[in-house]
Amino acid sequence: MKLYNTMSQKKEEFIPLEEGKVRMYVCGPTVYNYIHIGNARPMIVFDTVRRYMEYKGYQVNYVSNFTDVDDKIIKKAQEEGVSASEISTRYIAECKKDMAGMNIKPATTHPLATEEIPGMIEMISQLIGKGYAYEKDGTVYFRTRKFKDYGKLSKKNLDELEAGKRIAVEDQKEDDMDFVLWKPKKDGEPYWESPWSEGRPGWHIECSVMSKKYLGDQIDIHAGGEDLVFPHHENEIAQSEAANGKEFSKYWMHNAFLNIDNKKMSKSLGNFFTVREISEKYDLQVLRFFMLSAHYRSPLNFSAELMEASKNGLDRIVNAVSSLNRFLEAAQIDGLGADEEKLLEEAGAFTVKFEEAMDDDFNTADAVSAVFELVKFANINASANHSKEYLSNLKGQIMTLCDILGLIVEKKEELLDSDIEALIQERQEARKAKNFQRADEIREELLSRGITLKDTREGVVWTRA
Ligand code: AMP
Ligand code: ZN
Repeated sequence: MKLYNTMSQKKEEFIPLEEGKVRMYVCGPTVYNYIHIGNARPMIVFDTVRRYMEYKGYQVNYVSNFTDVDDKIIKKAQEEGVSASEISTRYIAECKKDMAGMNIKPATTHPLATEEIPGMIEMISQLIGKGYAYEKDGTVYFRTRKFKDYGKLSKKNLDELEAGKRIAVEDQKEDDMDFVLWKPKKDGEPYWESPWSEGRPGWHIECSVMSKKYLGDQIDIHAGGEDLVFPHHENEIAQSEAANGKEFSKYWMHNAFLNIDNKKMSKSLGNFFTVREISEKYDLQVLRFFMLSAHYRSPLNFSAELMEASKNGLDRIVNAVSSLNRFLEAAQIDGLGADEEKLLEEAGAFTVKFEEAMDDDFNTADAVSAVFELVKFANINASANHSKEYLSNLKGQIMTLCDILGLIVEKKEELLDSDIEALIQERQEARKAKNFQRADEIREELLSRGITLKDTREGVVWTRA
């Protein structure tokens, strides 16, 4: 399996630090509003990387943070007259709903910046102790020039960078290139006690600290959108490698940007969509499918036409699976025939093609093409006259590939009212018999089909979502 490493600017063979295991950190969103469709790109891309690695047998420890204290969150809180934590708690919950809609697996750990302040204070103290950081009037700065490898990820040179910098009057830095690790609070801002001031951390330190705490001093993959290469990831490297004395991450992966109608997405241009807005028009599976139709390092353009094309593409797969289900129900023959074995071998070639595409730096565009070829093959070579084994094997191949891409392609059939009534009746009987486990199971099953039960004095009332 090869992946493009931003550090070496080459595709490299993936060799994990520890056999069979992957330690992966993906920078998460700042939670001051609903996430936008640009934020969704790294979430979908790196969830797919994770799923493919799991398919290959790796045990993936996947950590992705929520930045839950920052200027934008504080501003939003002040506008609404509520606390910053009320804003971040609200939008973390909303973000998790959007993630579920896009079928993004929850991370192994989703740390929050505000819950990791002691670790940040510890790392900052360590950096001061080693001479990599200094305090001025309650602010702590990282001494960038002392870290000799600064610029190695973004290939920037400190002197060139400095030439392009404007010097802010209020800064008390020793050097323009130094960046903030800790800053004192302003009036009305949330703050934490520290050895330097009542204040809060700079943005970059949280990822160095969370990555170390949940994954160790060294990790396999650090990922995020390409805008994070500089300064965020460059600063993370400086902090982590200065503090730990070891190479921070073996591989660095960055997704290219999502544009809208070939322009940068921005509120002021009026071409800005949240995932929630898209979900009002499309199943979020369509958004996921759209994102995967391009290679993650290519810029991707969002447009109504491309979304329609993605919807049609996804429907083709869903329809093929539903035909296979119908054939399976009607099939009479048990046991694979010799001709069927040959056909399955032919079908297997599409899985090989899929894997080759994914092994080549996660080329999901080509992987999706392989799925389409398999679907076309199934449309031609399946009917109720085939054996059950053949049909379920073919369906299984499609389902496996779609599951790696995180695409849900098998719709649960909608329950008829009479089925719901029958299940409610069974639940009532289970409760009478004190079989609460079965009663709960039925409630859960109905809930997963969008049916909510309410126990009232007049009996059970149900509603469909
Ligand atoms: P932020 O909340 O701005 O820190 O962004 C969270 C993640 O979304 C980061 O990995 C960003 O690089 C990524 N991101 C933000 N905007 C876009 C975009 N338009 N296209 C792709 N990725 C983006
Ligand atoms: Zn980060």
